[in-house]
Amino acid sequence: MTITSAMPKARKRPTRTRTKRVSSLPAIKLSQLPPSHIDLRDPLHAVLVCEDCKTLVPITGMQGKVQKLVPHHTGKADEAAAIRCRSSNRRIEFDMTIPEWRQALADAVTEASSRQGTTVLPKAFSPQTDRTLRARAERTLAGRVADWDAVLHRVAATDKNRRTMPAGDAPTESLAAPLTTLHPKSPDR
Ligand SMILES: [Zn+2]
Repeated sequence: MTITSAMPKARKRPTRTRTKRVSSLPAIKLSQLPPSHIDLRDPLHAVLVCEDCKTLVPITGMQGKVQKLVPHHTGKADEAAAIRCRSSNRRIEFDMTIPEWRQALADAVTEASSRQGTTVLPKAFSPQTDRTLRARAERTLAGRVADWDAVLHRVAATDKNRRTMPAGDAPTESLAAPLTTLHPKSPDR
C-alpha cells in the first residue's frame, strides 16, 4: 500500500484534556482539603484526591486561567465499570499558594507525630474487674511496693495456718494402715 496525499493523516491530539466544559458543582477550595490530599510538588503535574471518588486526579490548566479536575471515572482504570465521576471538570480554587501548602503539610505531619496514644485497657468483664484493671494500669512501682507491704502480714498469717497440722492424721474413710511390722511364717515350719 502506497501512501498518497489523499489519505487522511491522523491529527496530532493534545496529550491533555482541554475541554471548556466546567462542572456545575461549586469549586473545590484547596484550603478545605487535608494537605495530604494535595500534591503540588510538581506544579505542572498537580494532583489531588477527588472528594467524590477518593482517587488521585490530575489538575488541568495549571498554566491557564481555570484549573479543573480532569474528566475521570469513579473506579480504577481497566478494572471498575466506566462510570463518570460527578466531580469531572470541577473547578479548583487556588486559595492557597504552593509554599502555604508545603507549610500546611509539614504542620500536619508534625501534629500527627506528636499525637499521644491512649492507653488501651482490656475489655472489662464486670465492674470489679474493670476497677482492678484500671487500678493496675494506673499503678506505679512505688504503689506496687506499698500494696505488697500492706498484704504482707496477711500472707504471713496464711503461711502460719498452712504449717499447723490437723489433729487427726489417719484417713477417716479407708482402712487403717498397720502400724506394727508383719512377719509372715512359711507353712512347713
Ligand atoms: Zn472523582
